[in-house]
Amino acid sequence: MAVLDTRADAPFDGAATRFAPSPSGQLHLGNARTALFNYLLARRCGGRFVLRIEDSDAGRTRSEHVEGLLADLRWLGLNWDAGPGREDTRGPYFQSARAQFYAHLFARLQGAQAVYPCYCTTLELEAARRAQRASGRPPRYAGTCRDLSAAQRERKEAQGLKPTLRFRVPTGQRIEFTDLVHGRQSFLSDDIGDFVIQRADGTAAFFFCNAVDDASMGITHVLRGEDHLANTPRQLLILAALEMPAPRYGHISLILAPDGTPLSKRHGATSVREFRERGYRPEALLNYLFRLGHATAEHALLDLPALAAAFDSNHLSRSSAHYDEQQLRVWQKTAVHHLTPVQAREWLAPLLPPGAAPAQIEAFLAAVVPNVILPEDAVQWVGIVFDQPLTLAPQDEQLVREAGRAFFAAAAAAAAQPDPVAIAAAARAVSGRKGAQLYLPLRLALTGCRHGPELGPLLKALPTGEAERRLSRFA
Ligand code: GLU
Ligand code: ZN
Repeated sequence: MAVLDTRADAPFDGAATRFAPSPSGQLHLGNARTALFNYLLARRCGGRFVLRIEDSDAGRTRSEHVEGLLADLRWLGLNWDAGPGREDTRGPYFQSARAQFYAHLFARLQGAQAVYPCYCTTLELEAARRAQRASGRPPRYAGTCRDLSAAQRERKEAQGLKPTLRFRVPTGQRIEFTDLVHGRQSFLSDDIGDFVIQRADGTAAFFFCNAVDDASMGITHVLRGEDHLANTPRQLLILAALEMPAPRYGHISLILAPDGTPLSKRHGATSVREFRERGYRPEALLNYLFRLGHATAEHALLDLPALAAAFDSNHLSRSSAHYDEQQLRVWQKTAVHHLTPVQAREWLAPLLPPGAAPAQIEAFLAAVVPNVILPEDAVQWVGIVFDQPLTLAPQDEQLVREAGRAFFAAAAAAAAQPDPVAIAAAARAVSGRKGAQLYLPLRLALTGCRHGPELGPLLKALPTGEAERRLSRFA
């Protein structure tokens, strides 16, 4: 029994990795993590990161999805060394533009009798599969067209039947490889039915173009979703038949929702675009995804070079990763705390009143940014700081009134300086109140809220004289 293996000990130095999305929808978290891991693996060892668009199935591809994908990857900072917009001699990097290359390889395989035309219709194949299942056998192509004579083929062609091209899987082979995540894998070729490598419309099928493109683009390492593990032996057979080098594959676990089902729309936001539009920071997503199914001792918010240095493919988990939006929010909070004033201003720019003076905007950001996780949390504070007057809930109004007119007269008189300690001291002197009794009426009168950012920075953000006006309302 022949054994087929890939270079189990291929060195990582200068590894060429790739991300190969099918642009049939938005970039979701699972794919973003796959892209990230491949990017980090390449960067970690001074290699190349390639982006290839798997759009050979024209029916499922939409150009806006390609554009969206590129924009999302750029936003994450996962810049590719070769790919769309960065063509080189190994391109083109859109599979839809590689038909000539595939045709050349199909011809080679035909010449070597490694493939044959299959005229079975979808209905016939479906019926055969049903019969196999009914008799307890695994559904697999029955080999109907494997040994058709030239005359039989001509007759089929004369009937106008358009064949697919099937790969003739050799019998009696063991296909082995060492998966970067799952370790040693072994498959029997006799368990694999002959499979389609060219569709009836002439386009290349996934197994085929995905494998030959990796080889021709010089890809040495492939990290991809676990759902492709069972495809790998087929792809190794194709590459062996063409005497092309196979990459080392690593199949990463899927991301599951907290309820254990595959992450999907009904679990809330799952696409990078949605997170981006809600104001999530790219570094928060990257740091969260880095730790999803990848164990690390690094607990700090890391930038991409630091993530690359800390990435270790030996620490990719075999068990499924569980998505948890709370953890993503923790990273988001950390990322927001790390924003520079300029970044913070850009981040909240769409919310800020256009007419406000730069100094007031700066004071507003200094007060509010430490207290928010998403821009939506800041909306309320834009209203509180820049729009007047405030309305109080009835029970809050009552609480404020109970502090008494003298309390607020004293506080207002001390409010020329934006110093909460001085204002509170003045109110305390006339009322004897302290702690929450002292501060809560002040906070309510100034902001209309029981909770929120620290009073000191907030007072600095209010327009001149505004604190005094708000306190005087109750004097
Ligand atoms: N286009 C395939 C996908 O998005 C690529 C699989 C692979 O990475 O090999 O699932
Ligand atoms: Zn057939």
